[in-house]
Amino acid sequence: PAAASSPLLKNLNPEQLAAVTAPAEAALILAGAGSGKTRVLTTRIAWLMQTGQVSPGGIMAVTFTNKAAKEMLTRLTAMLPVNVRGMWIGTFHGLCNRFLRAHWKLAKLPQSFQILDASDTVSAIKRVIKAMNLDEERFVPKQVGWFIAGCKEDGHRPGDVVAHDEQTRKLVEIYANYDDQCQREGVVDFAELMLRSYELLRDNAAIREHYQQRFRHVLVDEFQDTNKLQYAWLKMFAPPDSRSGQSLIAVGDDDQSIYAFRGARVGNMADFEREYRVQQVIKLEQNYRSHGHILDAANELISHNSQRLGKTLRTDAGQGEPLRVYEAASDFAEAQWLLEELQSLYRGGLVRQEMAILYRSNAQSRVIESALFNAGIPYRVYGGLRFFERAEVKHALAYLRLLENPNDDTSFLRVVNFPTRGIGAKTLETLQDLAKASGRSLYQSVSAVPGKGGANLVAFANLIDSTRNLTQGHTLREIIEQVLATSGLMDFYRTDKDGAERVENLEELVNAAEAFVTQEGFGKDAVALPVDEVAEAGTPGATPDAETGEIMSPLAAFLTHAALEAGDNQAQAGQDAVQLMTIHSAKGLEFDAVFLTGLEEGLFPHENALSAHDGLEEERRLMYVAITRARKKLAISFCQTRMLHGQTRYNVKSRFLDELPETSLKWLTPRNQAGGMGFGSGFSRDYASAWERGSGLKSMVGAGRVEQKAAWVEPPLPPSLRQKVSEEHGGLRVGKGVFHTKFGEGVLLTLEGSGTDARAQVNFGRHGVKWLALSVAKLQPID
Ligand code: ATP
Ligand code: MG
Repeated sequence: PAAASSPLLKNLNPEQLAAVTAPAEAALILAGAGSGKTRVLTTRIAWLMQTGQVSPGGIMAVTFTNKAAKEMLTRLTAMLPVNVRGMWIGTFHGLCNRFLRAHWKLAKLPQSFQILDASDTVSAIKRVIKAMNLDEERFVPKQVGWFIAGCKEDGHRPGDVVAHDEQTRKLVEIYANYDDQCQREGVVDFAELMLRSYELLRDNAAIREHYQQRFRHVLVDEFQDTNKLQYAWLKMFAPPDSRSGQSLIAVGDDDQSIYAFRGARVGNMADFEREYRVQQVIKLEQNYRSHGHILDAANELISHNSQRLGKTLRTDAGQGEPLRVYEAASDFAEAQWLLEELQSLYRGGLVRQEMAILYRSNAQSRVIESALFNAGIPYRVYGGLRFFERAEVKHALAYLRLLENPNDDTSFLRVVNFPTRGIGAKTLETLQDLAKASGRSLYQSVSAVPGKGGANLVAFANLIDSTRNLTQGHTLREIIEQVLATSGLMDFYRTDKDGAERVENLEELVNAAEAFVTQEGFGKDAVALPVDEVAEAGTPGATPDAETGEIMSPLAAFLTHAALEAGDNQAQAGQDAVQLMTIHSAKGLEFDAVFLTGLEEGLFPHENALSAHDGLEEERRLMYVAITRARKKLAISFCQTRMLHGQTRYNVKSRFLDELPETSLKWLTPRNQAGGMGFGSGFSRDYASAWERGSGLKSMVGAGRVEQKAAWVEPPLPPSLRQKVSEEHGGLRVGKGVFHTKFGEGVLLTLEGSGTDARAQVNFGRHGVKWLALSVAKLQPID
């Protein structure tokens, strides 16, 4: 209504303007990458406040990553001076945490409940499987974890799961025992954060109505990647049949749905449109991010997908430079090439912050990291082994968690005998049995254990209690320093001859806490934001601390931050550094220059995706996300050979390269036109035939074809043995063609083993390199 001339609206195109100023009802914005969806959301929030339509406390905005949430807060504060504390801006997990911190009692959680990260969850499940005397081979803890998370994301408690077979029945039993264990220990995993808050809202009308009254405007970014439970959770805050004049705005791009493998439902968009009787779907077609060649490549690629809602994107920016394409002999050579490119951009005046290296799998980062490290180029890795996941940091966090909640058995077991305190496996077994029998936590059961071991356990419990008393009322920094000292952790690593780096990391933990409290964290970071006392005080059912009135102590907030934050390497924060991350974590971000590495069949598209329903299309959407991160420069690379998980892989270039418009590409290496099988280079054939001639690896190294010695694994069998195998297997010969009924023609790379153990490694071109059991796969030799 008012303030149509607001400077906030000045730079918007007509469609964006319509979206920003849309009436307060349900709306769906469906638009391609870089069209300003996120910008529209942010501007709308600012505009609503500026025009007095809502106060900060009436806003809830959900984003997908912590980085995106922070970005939104930064942009908002730049637009107008607002108190962001009262707003709920964060990830689903972050907001659920905030909700449960306020309502811990009603949610039947201890006030200081702790969050299990992915690896904690697996070790907690492991303990359940062990206690049930089940076989870890049959019930692989990680897979059981997926099962449990899947049930929770469908909103199913153990009692709701229908099991048709014995295996599932057992899984459900593990699920039930795991839930009991978590409840006993006062911990929740990521999926539980969502489910628990959803259930509380569903079952408690007073709370539900309170929040519906409070949040006048609910806005969701990246809606295409919400799962069933997340959508149901959103509906609790802003129900479809609401007569209270609430507004729910969802923003999404079906072409960027990349989490189906984790239960995301792109169908939520259609459901939303129907259930909320969305009058008009707003489309944005102008792309403001990328130069023409980049956009052309993205459009052409995604046109190969059949399941699309259909959108168009155009840009006013010029065509810019074509995409640079590079074929490397090895992953090592690829990294060397990256170094050159990065340096040349840097010399050209581009800051490192604006250069991103993207990859499909975390495992790919190691080679690149070591190249950057050796060249002395600062870089920052997102994801991967996070700072807060390092062993020494987790040990320190475990002590801190025990201060907050001594009944957290996971943390208890982690550090009860670390550093060593003469508490052996036998003693711990007795303790666990006693605790189980009495239904109490390990901490509560220490005095029941007899003998010397028991005395040591009591001493440990006393250590925790006394540290807690000692640090009462201290600052977060003081608490952590005290814990590092009294636990003996710092001394332990100081005297350990390889402990220097760990000591540094522990010191870094203190710095991280300091930073959290002062600048970045406590004030602005919505994820770890303490529940705003003013805003939350009037909430029915909110239970503040009896003594201080705080809903979350700084320590609890920091521990939450450690579990939820996408833990960047804190040491490098603030420095101008090249950004490294998986494509998944690059969603929503943009950089001037993007390097997209590892464009190889089997890696990208990933081999596991090819067997999944809609797998290839999801991989293609991922490629679309990757391409559209670039503003001005995009380079794509692939390697003939790559070391991955301890194995050398012989690769062919990704089919996605063939799906890009030739006119937008600039090949830096000769474009190999080898048709048919789609071999990038003939390298694999050369390698195999070198063996055929008996000349082996050496001659190839001599010929300068192999650039990374360390990456080479010895061929699996000496030639003499190989001969025997090939006779046994009906004339199959390494280096020659084979035919497989499903994968078609390929080249045999390796033969190994004999009899029923015989295996063959075959390069099937488009289908990638595969290991096959010869007793099952009936390979036909072809000439
Ligand atoms: P993605 O799908 O990748 O999340 P998006 O649709 O959310 O993309 P934004 O990140 O909001 O797109 O915007 C892309 C870029 O375009 C940003 O740098 C943004 O500031 C800029 N932009 C958006 N709208 C305009 C506009 N009207 N004028 C100038 N720049 C704009
Ligand atoms: Mg966006």
